[in-house]
Amino acid sequence: MRVLGVTVLGSRLGRGTRTETAVETDPKVLGDLERMAPGQVLVAEPMARHTSFGLGGPADLFVEPTDPSTFRECSDYLTEAGVPVTLLGRGTNVLVRSGGIEGAVMTGMKAFTTLARTDVGVRAGSGVGLPRLLSFCAENGLSGLEGLSGIPGSAGGAVVTNAGSFGVSVGDRLTGVTVSKPGGSSSFIPCDELSIVYRGTGLSPEILIEGIELALDPGEPADIRAAQQETLERKWKTQPSGMRCAGCVFRNPAGGAAGKLIDEVGLKGLRVGGAVVSDLHANFILNDRGATSEDVEELIEIVRERVADAAGVTLELEIEITGRR
Ligand SMILES: Cc1cc2nc3c(=O)[nH]c(=O)nc-3n(C[C@H](O)[C@H](O)[C@H](O)COP(=O)(O)OP(=O)(O)OC[C@H]3O[C@@H](n4cnc5c(N)ncnc54)[C@H](O)[C@@H]3O)c2cc1C
Repeated sequence: MRVLGVTVLGSRLGRGTRTETAVETDPKVLGDLERMAPGQVLVAEPMARHTSFGLGGPADLFVEPTDPSTFRECSDYLTEAGVPVTLLGRGTNVLVRSGGIEGAVMTGMKAFTTLARTDVGVRAGSGVGLPRLLSFCAENGLSGLEGLSGIPGSAGGAVVTNAGSFGVSVGDRLTGVTVSKPGGSSSFIPCDELSIVYRGTGLSPEILIEGIELALDPGEPADIRAAQQETLERKWKTQPSGMRCAGCVFRNPAGGAAGKLIDEVGLKGLRVGGAVVSDLHANFILNDRGATSEDVEELIEIVRERVADAAGVTLELEIEITGRR
């Protein structure tokens, strides 16, 4: 394996071998990891099992520690051993290629799961799913995130992507994040040092978000639940539900909506193999009938070219494409 240190999804695109089988891991590395995190290390684990697209070849190693200290120990060890590490949340904003991911994929979905009220809002482990976070907010009379209903990612992934919908973004309510990097201890970064932008933050790729803190407004639980439900109903009418996808594929260009542009070029229903542009919302590409990652990637390129030709706008990706070709 190459000595790369820790990277996150999207920062190491397709530089691996052209194979759909995992690269064999050094038996010593595997043995050491299995001792550190018994039952929490999988070999040649298909990424299709861990992404909302349901696509992607094997990660050489898939490490899912069940507590924070084991997470840090494994992450430090892998970095020391020169194994590239890719961080994953709920895999709802990524397309992994069929060749899979070199090195180790690490997820904090089972390690960083605490959820607590604070004086001003809520503190959540990065592995907490947004649906659970929103239910907690409703139960505790905490308002401000209702527009995020229906986003299936984790708290950590939502900060990295500054997830948002209907005019609300996680960054609007974020007061700061607890982070760590391999070999270092945990520290708190206040929100104003995060360089939050539309669908992104300035966090450097080697940084793990362990937890997030949000400032919210007091509200009536029933009103909050009703507002969350209203958001969901709006989305059910305008976005495909229950389909394999990663939400919006492209960022909205300045002053416009990517979905509207794609629709105006007449690309709804356009298909490559099992990948199709949604009839309901043109910025969604669906894994419809047994698509491959390559079908989706090719369709993305076609959509991008046609929109550039017809409208003179170059669409930028909102999702991340990663892995060996
Ligand atoms: C049906 C559907 C609807 C969606 N609707 C919306 C929407 O309305 N608005 C919107 O903004 N998005 C939407 N999305 C996209 C997605 O849910 C969000 O971007 C989400 O916040 C990503 O979270 P995740 O945990 O799945 O991150 P992942 O996809 O697992 O990872 C995304 C990025 O974050 C990094 N990352 C993840 N966790 C950590 C961590 N703890 N520390 C450091 N880096 C980390 C990864 O390395 C990667 O770079 C939708 C997706 C689907 C499938």
